[in-house]
Order: sequence, then structure tokens, then C-alpha cells
Amino acid sequence: MRTLEEAAAEAATCTRCRLAEGRTQVVYGVGDPDADLMFIGEGPGYHEDKQGVPFVGAAGQLLNQMLSEVGVPREDVYISNVVLCRPPGNRDPLEDEIQACKPWLDERIAIIEPVVIVTLGNWATRFVLGPRVSISRVRGQRFPWNGRTVIPTFHPAAILHGGGQGSPQMAALRQDFEEIRRALDERPEPAEEQLGLF
Ligand code: URA
Repeated sequence: MRTLEEAAAEAATCTRCRLAEGRTQVVYGVGDPDADLMFIGEGPGYHEDKQGVPFVGAAGQLLNQMLSEVGVPREDVYISNVVLCRPPGNRDPLEDEIQACKPWLDERIAIIEPVVIVTLGNWATRFVLGPRVSISRVRGQRFPWNGRTVIPTFHPAAILHGGGQGSPQMAALRQDFEEIRRALDERPEPAEEQLGLF
């Protein structure tokens, strides 16, 4: 299998869907290529499109806050989106755009092999758990998926556009990040480390 850098270099010139026309650049993903924890958001926003890095705007600040509250350094995780290019005016990605981008996300998951995947909001959650799933019904639960654990939670932007830091959704987001922390703590030791004990 090729490396993440090789895949990212090819993705940088992707024209598989109409989002290529309006983008400043492809926002492939950021973080540790060996991460045990991977986040999947919806799609790049204004700041992400300009900087080429996912979750650097206001939603990214809230994601950083949640990571730091549960003691997970941002550089230890991998962060990406269902679509690699900014939908115009931050509209939702369309089904054909999500399907066109799917091979990029499937490949990233195969390369990184995360133990826990957190889907942020409806689009990422439906990508994994199916089209009829609603985030408010499944959030905070663990779903086995292709040998990994998927934990859906609210998209940070939904908290920012909803009630903010004092809202019930924010309390739910906190609970879900504690569950993410527990799932990480319970992950099996990598085989090499176990061997090293003997
Ligand atoms: N929202 C997303 O879904 N992804 C980003 O990268 C930024 C904001």
C-alpha cells in the first residue's frame, strides 16, 4: 500500500467532482499517519480551504478544546473530512460529491488503520453507519465497523451555531469525548509492545 504522502500528492490534483472548480486547494488531512484515533468531519470551510488544513477555524478551536479536556494531544490524532474540497458557501456536500471522494477516505482509513473513528455530525456518521442514521440518536455510542470502533458525536460547528458552551449539546459533546477517551484507554496494546515485555 502507498504512503499517506503519496496518496495526498495525487489527491492534490483531483478533479473527480465539481468541488474541484471552486476550491483554493485540496484539504487532504492532518495528523499522525499512525494515529489510533481518527476524526472525520464534513468538509473544509473558508479557513480550511485557504490554509489547506482541516479544522483550523472556529469549529477546529472547539475540537482542540475537547481534545485537551480529555488529555489527547491534537498531533497524536488524524483529522480529515468526508469531502476534500470546500463546498461553495459552506453548503452541505452532495451525494455524488461524497461518493466521488469516498475512495480517498477509504484509502486513508486503510493506511492509518485507526482503532477508534469519531464521526463528527450527520454527514460523516451517515458515511459510515448508513444514510438513515441521525446523529442525535446514535451519538456517544460505540459501533463495531470493519474491525474498528466508530463513535459518532455532534459536529463542533453545530454546537457553535446552537447553544454554545452552556448548551445541553455541549454537555453531550463532553460526555462523548469521555467515551472516546475510554475507548482509547481500552484499546489492545500493539503486538510489538506486548512482545517487548518478555
Ligand atoms: N468543518 C468540517 O467539517 N471540517 C473542517 O475541516 C472544518 C469545519
